[in-house]
Amino acid sequence: MNIRKDDTVLVTSGKYRGKKGKVIRAFPALNRIVVQGVNLRKRHRRPSKDLPQGGIVEAEGPIDRSNVLLICPKCSKPTRIGARKLEDGKKARICKKCGEAIDK
Ligand SMILES: [Zn+2]
Repeated sequence: MNIRKDDTVLVTSGKYRGKKGKVIRAFPALNRIVVQGVNLRKRHRRPSKDLPQGGIVEAEGPIDRSNVLLICPKCSKPTRIGARKLEDGKKARICKKCGEAIDK
């Protein structure tokens, strides 16, 4: 999976289509990500230290990686991701639109 935590993505399908947000969690093994403000679910929470009263809170649910496109930090367009091998043997993610490396 080539989407990582702290990437900014554009949702391309479903109820949240067109919405942009930051990836707050990534589950590479499941190909699922959690995007800030996307797929809000009401969760019924028991009282805890953070939430002494308990009750219903809204929290993001995971969505499938295939329903988002990465927003390139260089050209700020939604793009697919390519890969390029660097001299040191590591792989860098590449924006298919502008060809720039996404990670520094
Ligand atoms: Zn780009």
